[in-house]
Amino acid sequence: MAQLVGIARLAAESPSLEAKRRTEYFELATRKYLSRCTSPRMPFRWMINPYRGCEFGCKYCYARYTHEFMELRESEDFEKKIFVKHFEAAAFRAELHALPRGETIAIGTATDPYQPAERKFRLTRSILELLAQSAGYHIGLVTKSDLVSRDIDIFQEISRRNYLTLVITITTLDSELARLLEPLAPRPDLRLGAVRKLSAAGLRVAVNLAPILPLLNDSEPSLDAVAKASARAGAVQLSGNVVYLEECARKVFFPFLRDYFPSYLRRYQERFERGAYLRGAYPETIRERLDRIRRRYGLQERKAEPDPELWPQEPQMTLFS
Ligand code: SF4
Repeated sequence: MAQLVGIARLAAESPSLEAKRRTEYFELATRKYLSRCTSPRMPFRWMINPYRGCEFGCKYCYARYTHEFMELRESEDFEKKIFVKHFEAAAFRAELHALPRGETIAIGTATDPYQPAERKFRLTRSILELLAQSAGYHIGLVTKSDLVSRDIDIFQEISRRNYLTLVITITTLDSELARLLEPLAPRPDLRLGAVRKLSAAGLRVAVNLAPILPLLNDSEPSLDAVAKASARAGAVQLSGNVVYLEECARKVFFPFLRDYFPSYLRRYQERFERGAYLRGAYPETIRERLDRIRRRYGLQERKAEPDPELWPQEPQMTLFS
């Protein structure tokens, strides 16, 4: 067998923390908690992902390739072998200390920071506790889990000296469709409950209506229902984008379509055979549809953050109310 190097070697050497019937947790040695995002398309410069792998197992998940870096190439490894990053508070504090004010930090860009592992390992919470001692950053956190509302106290603390946006992903209000697409993620009504609790606690909440999947959740009534419920629950922003199907995602998503929506399979295969993104009229139609829906419910588009010069020492709620 070829000798493993880098993250693949660390993964192979990771001690097992616990094995449930379905899932095994490993502790992954970690040098850095903040990783730099080099894509100019992304509205953030730094990323934090406390876990590698994600038990929620969404059928369209594009992050599955991250397990391939560890030479774990079975599709199910991503959902069943979860790596918990070894956490050293002093090392993370030093990284934060070196980060200039005004930087953008996104938590949960690759895997969900409130997946089931978080109930046990509380790694996301440990990271947030240190962020709460920092000032002057734009911080975004994205999740599909209602467990996020457990940490309201820390979010309020972070918001005193940083610009924080909590983003809850809700793809559909149809709980049966959600169960098929996102098998172990909390139900849509539970996610809406989290939007309600976080908003009621004075926190800025956005709903991420993504991915938008042709023929499955892209109709105006379906998108409208999510937007309406989100606005009623207190969300102030709504974002959404059309599904992106890299090969690692197609390997799971196409068999899923074959099993549950066989009549859609051929159309997806034709549309995505030339690449991971849909081009042409469809994305434009969805953009217009979302704009219309946002206007209907007074929701803002998630866009560039305000000038950091304005807010270093101020609580966000007085500046951006
Ligand atoms: S919650 Fe996000 S990271 Fe987890 S499986 Fe779903 S899409 Fe992937």
